[in-house]
Amino acid sequence: MNCDTCIIFDFDGTLYPIIDFDSEQLLVHTIAQTSDEVFRKEAQRFIADDQAGCFLLEDFHLRYAAMTRGSTAALVDEVGRHLAGLLSCDDRTSLVTLKKESRADFAIFTCGTENLAEAFLTHLGIRDLFTSIRGKRLHFEEVGNTTMTIDIHTPEAKRRALEALRPCYRTIVAVGDGPTDIPMLEAADLGLVIDWNAQAMHSNFETHHSLPSLCRRIAAYLVSAAEA
Ligand SMILES: [Mg+2]
Repeated sequence: MNCDTCIIFDFDGTLYPIIDFDSEQLLVHTIAQTSDEVFRKEAQRFIADDQAGCFLLEDFHLRYAAMTRGSTAALVDEVGRHLAGLLSCDDRTSLVTLKKESRADFAIFTCGTENLAEAFLTHLGIRDLFTSIRGKRLHFEEVGNTTMTIDIHTPEAKRRALEALRPCYRTIVAVGDGPTDIPMLEAADLGLVIDWNAQAMHSNFETHHSLPSLCRRIAAYLVSAAEA
């Protein structure tokens, strides 16, 4: 482990492209497949409301905790497998190469679900590249009564979590895809945006359209930062 550089990634829409559903919507959708009609309707409404941007983050977390009470580790694993399938070999290799060349610590700071990020990385065979994954966590202690705890839950919390790492690292790079990442990107030495679908988030941050391009940029930046 190297205590010099940290690269912090957002999860949803950053480490994989969002197609139809993000990971949390997909988990609720997956739970609904084996639930009764009432839950299926509620799940549909929840996902539609979320996609329409109806929730404030705090409201979302409360509704999400209620909707995922019936989630299980197996369902989370199924979602992780599906999301891992959205990445190409080149995407995966670019992360492995960046890790090897930079020897940086990799972290995920997300307003999403840690377990889903872990399942995704595990299916890609790169869970061990990441030293820290922080967001919301599901606890599957009792069937039908899954609970949730929250670590990072807002854009400002992402920024604070990054700033708390300052004493540990000389250089911190952050990567995100949306408005909830902006405070974290602003706080980083280098903040980059990934826009998988080339739908331009009108960002002030340098934008890349693939993981290989993004990883090459980070590697080049770290070389120049080391020489400075
Ligand atoms: Mg995102």
